[in-house]
Amino acid sequence: MRVVATLQKHHYEAYLVGGCIRDLLLGKKPKDFDVSTNATPEQIRQIFISNSRIIGRRFKIVHVLQGKEIIEVTTFRSNQSAPAKQRSGRTRVKAESGMLIRDNVYGKNIIEDSQRRDFTINALYLDPVKKVIYDFNGGLYDMQQGVIDIIGDPETRYSEDPVRMIRALRFCAKLGFKISRRTLSPIKKMASNLSAVSNARMFEEVNKLFLTGHGLQTFRTLRKYDIFKLLFPSAAELLDNQNYINFVEYALSSSDKRYMEDKRNMPHFLYAVILWAVFQKRMFICNQTYNSAVVLVPQNKLISGLLNDIIAEQNKITDMPMAVADSIRSLWRMQLTLDDIENNNIDEIAARNIFRASYDFLELRGKFEPYLKTAIDFWNPYYIKSKELADKRKARKEESFGRKARKKEKLAAKKKAYEDKLAAKKSRKKANTESFDDEANLSAKRKKQLEKARAWRAAMHLDVK
Ligand code: ATP
Ligand code: MG
Repeated sequence: MRVVATLQKHHYEAYLVGGCIRDLLLGKKPKDFDVSTNATPEQIRQIFISNSRIIGRRFKIVHVLQGKEIIEVTTFRSNQSAPAKQRSGRTRVKAESGMLIRDNVYGKNIIEDSQRRDFTINALYLDPVKKVIYDFNGGLYDMQQGVIDIIGDPETRYSEDPVRMIRALRFCAKLGFKISRRTLSPIKKMASNLSAVSNARMFEEVNKLFLTGHGLQTFRTLRKYDIFKLLFPSAAELLDNQNYINFVEYALSSSDKRYMEDKRNMPHFLYAVILWAVFQKRMFICNQTYNSAVVLVPQNKLISGLLNDIIAEQNKITDMPMAVADSIRSLWRMQLTLDDIENNNIDEIAARNIFRASYDFLELRGKFEPYLKTAIDFWNPYYIKSKELADKRKARKEESFGRKARKKEKLAAKKKAYEDKLAAKKSRKKANTESFDDEANLSAKRKKQLEKARAWRAAMHLDVK
């Protein structure tokens, strides 16, 4: 609300838009807040000079930092191509497939902006100052009906951006809404277009699908519409294995629970869960093959090779940051380590960064692989100790963050007071300068000062004609 009010104070139009309005109307807690405005990214930057930055190339957005929260502020966009008179840089570039590579054509107004949004329920605008909701596409009706309906021609909109297909399924899983027939029908046919989406963006989309509190339902919906195998091709052959489904579903439901408890879900854990059976299966096959080989391959080399292969295959679809890939490798390797309680460097293992996540993973597996109980019981006291230490560290960090925030607030207040003082001085000076023109109204003292100043300027040859 503060961001919207500030933009409006600077005479721009500004609204809260998208998922936050949809979720508020449904009585859900919004994941984030998006603001739409007619100010350009550069103008937005000027207003929030000390707490904003421009991001994105395909689509320029300004991130405005408010406390701990990032508010995404976007300039009205249009679905039309750029008029010739628009400056270069404001472009809407389509690839041959119809996919939008860049989408920076600014829209004239809120109506144009609403038409370039994905679904009617995501195109509701709230002016929190006037307390009015604007709906140009029947979004409120669809909210009442519980329907996800794409704006415009479905095939064109999916060609422009294939991610909209996954978004339709995500909202279906998240909200329990039905997807309208016209929105759903091209998805099976067009799903292969997803391969054209950059794998870095796909990584972000997959995180949103599974890590934001509705992973279990999403997993079911993606399987129902045959999209899961496109996102995780190496796990495709496991989809008719009920043990695999049970394990992934159990893990996802526990991460959904974590999300409800405001705990963070990490991408490496998700990927480790989904691809674990792939690793196990390949290990099994490799061991069978190599056990009968003439030259034995060291176990360590075999594991490294398998891990790298699985991660490289997945990276073709979702480009994982290096740290995520490293954590998956460590977490899986730790499964083999934790299983071996005869190990003689127990304390060193329990002190590793990945230890707690690895234990959590082992515990999940324990539900389906009962023989792991001995290892789980053995590591449990180390896990509890490690968790206590981590909680203490977190509390200390939060306390110091609070201290830092208070200090920052104090400094900001000081800066504001100084700026106000400066502004007051400036306006006083302005008032004085103005009265210089009107000598008749000056006080005797002021007149004398003026004369002195003039004489001094004349003596120094400073008067400009
Ligand atoms: P949530 O934040 O709960 O995941 P959301 O709808 O807010 O859902 P965001 O990714 O935050 O999703 O996007 C904000 C808004 O931007 C959307 O509501 C929609 O209006 C618009 N939008 C996002 N992605 C697209 C897209 N690929 N095509 C068209 N419009 C989009
Ligand atoms: Mg959002």
